[in-house]
Parts: sequence; C-alpha cells; structure tokens
Amino acid sequence: MHRSAAPSVPRSAISLVAAGLLGALGCAAAPARPQQPAPAMPAAASAPDTPLQAQYRAVADRIIAAALPDSAAWVKLARITDTYGNRLAGSEALERALDDILRTMQQEGLENAHAEPVMVPHWVRGEESAELVEPRRQALPMLGLGGSVGTPRGGITAEVLVVSTFDELTRRAAEARGKIVLFDEVWQGYGRTVQYRGGAAVAAARVGAVAALIRSVTPFPLRTPHTGAMYYDSAVARIPGAALTVEDAMMLHRMQDRGQHVVVHLEMAAQMLPDSPSRNVMGEIRGSEHPEEVVVIGGHTDSWDVGQGAMDDMGGVVVSWEAVRLLQRLGLRPRRTLRVVGWVNEENGTRGGQGYRDAHRDQLPNHVLAIETDGGVFRPTGFGFTGTDSAMALVRQIGGLLRRLGADSITRGGGGTDIGPITQVGVPSMGLNDDGTRYFWYHHTNADTPDKLDPREMAQCVAAMAVMAYVVADMPERLPWGTGTGAR
Ligand SMILES: [Zn+2]
Repeated sequence: MHRSAAPSVPRSAISLVAAGLLGALGCAAAPARPQQPAPAMPAAASAPDTPLQAQYRAVADRIIAAALPDSAAWVKLARITDTYGNRLAGSEALERALDDILRTMQQEGLENAHAEPVMVPHWVRGEESAELVEPRRQALPMLGLGGSVGTPRGGITAEVLVVSTFDELTRRAAEARGKIVLFDEVWQGYGRTVQYRGGAAVAAARVGAVAALIRSVTPFPLRTPHTGAMYYDSAVARIPGAALTVEDAMMLHRMQDRGQHVVVHLEMAAQMLPDSPSRNVMGEIRGSEHPEEVVVIGGHTDSWDVGQGAMDDMGGVVVSWEAVRLLQRLGLRPRRTLRVVGWVNEENGTRGGQGYRDAHRDQLPNHVLAIETDGGVFRPTGFGFTGTDSAMALVRQIGGLLRRLGADSITRGGGGTDIGPITQVGVPSMGLNDDGTRYFWYHHTNADTPDKLDPREMAQCVAAMAVMAYVVADMPERLPWGTGTGAR
C-alpha cells in the first residue's frame, strides 16, 4: 500500500487497480485517508507562474468561478438515482438509466453522443437471509457477495468457525470441515481488507467449509452489511459467500471465545444468468485542431444492487459529464476532443472498460489522457497520475491552477478500474482524489444515496475535472504518451 512517491499520502487503491492488483474485485476506489493538509507541491502560492500556468490561469479561474455556484451536478445525480435506483449489470434499471443518460446528452447538444454495445454478466441476488440459531435465535442482517452461488434449497444450517485471518484459518484447518467459516477480519484499509471479501469462499472451501461469511469491509460500523465482488477458483468447490455486519461478526467471535456453540442458518437464492447486452455511453466536445486526439474522462454507470449507487459511482459519471457541459456552456472548445464516457459493469466484470479498449484499439495511441472518477466525489484534493516523468511535470503545473480549490495535490500512481485496460496499453491515466473519509462508511450498502453527497463539494469536483481536462485537451504541447515508471 505504501509505495507512493509522496510520503504522507497513502498510495491509493486506485493506483493498485492501475497496477492490475485489484481489478478483479471491482470498485476499488480511493481509500479513506486521514484529513490532513495536502503535501506541499513545487508550485507553491508564492512561486511565479510557469509559462503554461500563465497561459491558462485566466481561463482556469473562469472555469472555477462558473463551476462553484452551480449545483447542476448534484441535481442531475439525485434525479437519475432517484428515478432508476440501483443499477447492477444485467438489470432493467441500468438499461433505463442508460437510455436516459444518452437521451439527455443528445438533448444537451453534446457532440457524437452515442452508445457502444458490450455484453455484461448477469448475476441476481434472489431472496436471502441469515439467522443465528445457537446460542440464541436472532436475524442477522446480511448481503450475499456478488457472484456467489446460492445455498441448496432449504438453506444451510451449520456450526460457525470464526477466524480473524487467512493465516488463522490455515492453522485451524482441521476444525473447518462441514462448518461455516466467518472471517472477522479487522479493517486495515480497503486494499488489504477487501482481499477477504474476494477470497473468503475459496479459502473456506479449500479446508472443507460449506459456506463463507465475512465481516463487512468498512472502517465505520453502522450495523449495515456491505456487498461487493467475490471470486471462485475452479480447483475448489463453489460455496456461498455473504457479508455480515461488523457488529454481528464481532459478537459471534465473542461467543466462540467464551466457548459457546455458534450455529447459523443461511439461505441464498443467488444465481448467475446468461450474459446480457448493455453499453458504454458517451458524448463529446470535438477538438478544433486535432479532433482525432482525445482526452477521455468518466466514471461507471452500474452499481451494486443495493442503495442507489450514488457515490459509487453515478456521482463520478455526473461530475465528469457536468465538467464537459460546463466547458460547452462557456464556449470553450479545446484543440483536442474531450469525451465523457459512462463505462458499464465496473462492479462485477469490467466489461465496459475492456469493451472500450477493444472498440477504440486503433485510436489508443491518440488517447492523450484518461481520467476516472470513482472515489465518491467528496471534497477534491487533487489527482493521482500514472504517466511518464515529463508528463508528470506538465500535469503538476496544471495542478497548480487548482490551488484555490485545494485540489492541487498531484501524486504518483492513479487511474481507475474502467480505464485500467487502456492504462495497460499505455494511455496516461489519472484518478480524481478526494477526501475519502466517509466513502467506505456507505460503500456497497443500502445507504449509498445522494443525500450523503454535498452539492458544493460536487461542484468543486466538476471544477477540478473541467480545468484538468480542458488544459490537457487544449495545451499546445501534447501530453507525452506512455505510463512510464508509474504503471504495472
Ligand atoms: Zn465504483
């Protein structure tokens, strides 16, 4: 986690995704990080503007001034997420939301607004429940993990073995056969702890367990279960996987420590249906001089099948979209094309990101920069960047134009799951960083709703995205291509 060149800023989960380490788990956004001032960057307030900054200072200030009083991003987010609700790949709600986004982009006059088809996995949760049976009866709030198989009809009733870590399960493997294994793993940051969500079922099946439960992956327990992707290994049996709340995982652990016999009944009707047609949606401001060169920005339109998928990640889609809309309204047409994309299926397949790479493979050498926003659209602090050293030097200068927003911290290593496939090809990539303190309180839960997001903070995100995307799309010198030392 701590390989970042910027010592006081934890290397984000986004940069791990860009490095291909977390992509399979879906939705690995910026981790919660302590609230502290951004580290000082070379372009301090007192430093004179570089020629690039001098060239773009006035227009950047104009973009920021227009963005800040504008609540359009939050209003659009609330309208879409209230109207369609959550949007798991394969769901009708997702397709209706995509129809709306595309129609709205066309009505707004974005150029070349269109959809590009991709096939997506279609997992359905079905009815599900968990109940503590011994030492006393109590319903346990739970969410099946995305991609899990269901239980046999009638459910599974079994004794529970609680462990804290994979290592503890290895030591106690002889006790696990025929039981439900519960991983009561302590939050150590998203990138580390999410390995339990992803790998619990495989680890438990390997030692003969009949189901796997995890303590929800969150630093802040509110007795809400958090779902998310899990995976199977063809070498071991596919057993059901589900998340309990932090509170209940800790209680079951205490019961076991007292020597009590803990029994749980688990019922899940989850199943995987055949792949389903879906799409990436996009619109543009065409470049005035180099329309074939593209700066692409966006987020993912799909979400888990709980809550409203507001911060994860319709907020990211809308902030990127409104950044382009703002430039359109200000009459700012950059030299290069600026494209906003709503990628699909980030959460449980990354088919949107892969499909975009495949559909645009010939044009990727002309993709000047990709920026993803998938960390909650709270107060922006800057960007993480994956690119060459010479590109980094330019991006840091542009970051200096965001100082009045407090969004001028440009750290090494950044991107996102949806742009990961084109980062791997060599497209310089960036992720918007924000104050992620509250993000994982709500992540993948029924509480991911638009009221958690602040219209003013979203407007700040719009401003930061618009300035960064506009200057890179317009500056005379093209951003050097390649991912340099920051990738892979
Ligand atoms: Zn996400």
